[in-house]
Amino acid sequence: MSARAISAVKGMNDLLPEEVERWRVLEETIRETTRLHGYREIRTPLVEPTPLFVRSVGEGTDIVDKEMYSFVFHDEPLTLRPEGTASVVRAYVEHALHTKEPVSRFLYVGPMFRGERPARGRYRQFHQAGCEVFGDPGPVVDAEMIDMLVGLMAKLEVGEVEVLLNSLGGAGTKARYRERLLAHLEPMKESLSQDSQRRLETNPLRILDSKHPQDQEAIAGAPSILESIDDEDRAHFDRLRALLDALGTPYRVEPRLVRGLDYYSRTLFEIRGKSPELGAQNALGGGGRYDALVEDLGGPKVSGIGFGLGLERLLLASKAKPGLRVRSVLIAPMGARAQTEALVIARELRALGIVAHVEGRGGSLKSMLRRTASVDAGVALVLGDGELDRGVVQLKELDAHVQRDVARAELAAEVTRFFGRGTTP
Ligand code: AMP
Repeated sequence: MSARAISAVKGMNDLLPEEVERWRVLEETIRETTRLHGYREIRTPLVEPTPLFVRSVGEGTDIVDKEMYSFVFHDEPLTLRPEGTASVVRAYVEHALHTKEPVSRFLYVGPMFRGERPARGRYRQFHQAGCEVFGDPGPVVDAEMIDMLVGLMAKLEVGEVEVLLNSLGGAGTKARYRERLLAHLEPMKESLSQDSQRRLETNPLRILDSKHPQDQEAIAGAPSILESIDDEDRAHFDRLRALLDALGTPYRVEPRLVRGLDYYSRTLFEIRGKSPELGAQNALGGGGRYDALVEDLGGPKVSGIGFGLGLERLLLASKAKPGLRVRSVLIAPMGARAQTEALVIARELRALGIVAHVEGRGGSLKSMLRRTASVDAGVALVLGDGELDRGVVQLKELDAHVQRDVARAELAAEVTRFFGRGTTP
């Protein structure tokens, strides 16, 4: 009796090689686009001290209250990172990067963990690519970032997107708005969902994020944050809009956009896709300014802005084709002498950038050649004692079903010529 198989954790997916090819192309497009904008990649640990997220993402948010994979290891509370910004800020502060350059631009790419209810486009381990800029208070960089995102969406062929834009104002505005919002919500307290009733005490802004049907009426009538922002916040927002208008970058002002993290101030944005593949999970990415976060996490007074993109969702929406098929060479040696020679030939071909597979399992020629389909070989090289004695290798062009002997000394050049003829359809 065979042992019972073990399945992956719910909401955490394997990416099989065929899908990984699409991922690789997606990540390369993101890396290239961000590189052209001066971002440099940073890699931080997947596990961080729990207080990092409690202090940045904030208590009263879904992430911190319900979704974090937290555990205690040797008395230290730790959490699998649910998002990227907090870690990048921690690293920025820890390495005093503000002393090395006045403005820093970072890209990160990697898995994030949130214990959400799994659905299409919503997973417990998912992947984000994100950018952060430190030391530039905007609004020029805000506009540049949003414009870059819109351009990136076009490159990824995700179809029509909508950019939602809002300003939360700074700390003073948030406190003022909180009072106005409470004045609006308190009288309807009884009609709100349990979660929202609790948030009246802890984090009333979060109520605007509620998807609960029970809360929608109260949310629809809520006062607009934009009416509460002060003159400086307003000037920042107006200049950002003017820049986007001048660039022809489309957006829609959405005064009730709050997004699920606490650290944002001023500029806030979200990109939604319209591809039917996305279903209800249509937020492709979002971000905003967090001008107080670096200081709140023990760093200098340095402003920040960033965004995170959901890679699974981008792939659901993207119509971009995977890269060109890379055809390979299958080498089929018959006998022990030929096996050694096959390894030498493979080494030569790989040095020329050609993908080479050595069929080392032995068996009949017919069974060896069966593998050409699964490795997508354009050429098979067959050699046995007879070929070795004559100093040749049999080259089979698999699509054309033709074969000929090629002198061993000419082999690498001949295979290169063959691939040079365009066997990558
Ligand atoms: P956030 O960090 O919440 O601002 O999310 C940024 C983006 O990450 C979202 O717009 C989604 O595209 C993606 N995302 C967030 N949570 C998940 C999840 N549980 N599964 C898949 N993608 C997600």
